Amino acid sequence: MADPIRVRFAPSPTGFLHVGGARTALYNWLYARKVGGTFVLRIEDTDAERSTAESVDAIYEGMRWLGLDWDEGPEAGGEFGPYFQSERRHIYRAEVDRLLEADQAYPCFCTPEDLKSMRDSLKAEGKDASYDGRCGKLSRDEAAARVASGEAHAIRFRSPADGETALFDVVRGKMVFQNALFEDFVILKGDGLPSYNFAVVVDDAAMRISHVIRGDDHISNTPRHLMLYAALGYKLPKFAHLPMILGEDKTRLSKRHGATAVAEFAKEGILPQGMMNYLALLGWSLDGKTEFFTPKKLIEAFSLKRVGSNPSVFDIEKLSWLSGEHFKILALDEKAAGVHAHLLAKGYDLPPLDARFVEMVELQGNRIKSFAEAEFGMDHFFKELPNYDASAVTQYLLGDAPQKLVALAERWQALEEFTAEALENALREEAASWSLKAGELIHPMRVAVVGQSKSPDIFKTCELLGRDLCLKRLKAKG
Ligand code: GLU
Repeated sequence: MADPIRVRFAPSPTGFLHVGGARTALYNWLYARKVGGTFVLRIEDTDAERSTAESVDAIYEGMRWLGLDWDEGPEAGGEFGPYFQSERRHIYRAEVDRLLEADQAYPCFCTPEDLKSMRDSLKAEGKDASYDGRCGKLSRDEAAARVASGEAHAIRFRSPADGETALFDVVRGKMVFQNALFEDFVILKGDGLPSYNFAVVVDDAAMRISHVIRGDDHISNTPRHLMLYAALGYKLPKFAHLPMILGEDKTRLSKRHGATAVAEFAKEGILPQGMMNYLALLGWSLDGKTEFFTPKKLIEAFSLKRVGSNPSVFDIEKLSWLSGEHFKILALDEKAAGVHAHLLAKGYDLPPLDARFVEMVELQGNRIKSFAEAEFGMDHFFKELPNYDASAVTQYLLGDAPQKLVALAERWQALEEFTAEALENALREEAASWSLKAGELIHPMRVAVVGQSKSPDIFKTCELLGRDLCLKRLKAKG
């Protein structure tokens, strides 16, 4: 029977969940969901100085917002835990001891100063500034005695001096590396924590990961991983390295390019479905043309075979457009709930999410393509006075317009029911009394009430706004 499909997302908790990490998480999740495999979350916190609890939380939050639920990992549990590398020291130690026993690793007593002067002199000779293997030449007895005496040391892997290592990558095909290019690298640091290259191999094997799907910035590390797989006698997983994500200037996407943290997009009102859809297209395509995918459709359509090796450029316009496409198909109650949450987060003093609020959102119709855009059309509902557009005021509220608005306010005040229909009838009567066409009074009324020369159905807007605010606004400009 084939081994079960198990994939993992293995972030280092040293910052927010950014676009690149989220794309890696997504592809692993999509693959697991597509084939009925298991999606594991593992926190690679072996860099004690840079790892933080806030970052771990930000990773969970980003993944949850995107809808990437993990089957095993922190908070979910699982039979291959612990899922924090900092809690797995005993596992790494046991594997280091196996390599030491087999003389495939050795203690290195070089101090940072020793290493620096070694590198400097290698450089001066025009050679690669890599470790020269000097501690690997100590006798095992001497090394053991120095360790026993308590001398500070790291452990290095004795990497093969010659030959080649071949990587068969699902995305890139075959890549061959000369072993001589790889120094004896550190597997256990002086502080007793494993290096990334070691921990990742030990854990992927221990957690029975079948497919390692990650960014192609790790390709250069992979030969080291393959050497360790061989030395430790582990079964190899399949590797799939995802193409780089670039900024508009075609350099690797980074903070310099603006927002890259998933949480920032969430804050700007991008929909998680839109973000998921967009991230999926950064390196994968179904047929080179279909762009809109719901999460369900993505799971159905996704395959590692259709992941390309060409870098893709992060295009914020396209992200917004896709998010808008997903917005269009949201049910009204979902839209209203999202707008409500967005406006609350923005600090608005809102009424409850009730039928009236839902009507306010419904009234906006297709004018809003994101929660964020809702703010522009709806903010006036939650204030005494709207923001007045200066040119609309100049165009419609000068001359005797204020006088007419005051008269209109009086007529509206007398209405028994403050409904769109009653408001419209009363306005028509008021306009007729001045021998105006209805439109000639509607325009100034609109500017007085919403501050702009355009709005959704203005009578419905007035009804939802309520008698007090409407009259106050008519009079404010009267
Ligand atoms: N912890 C590594 C990183 O955040 C990922 C390692 C991997 O996926 O192999 O870059």
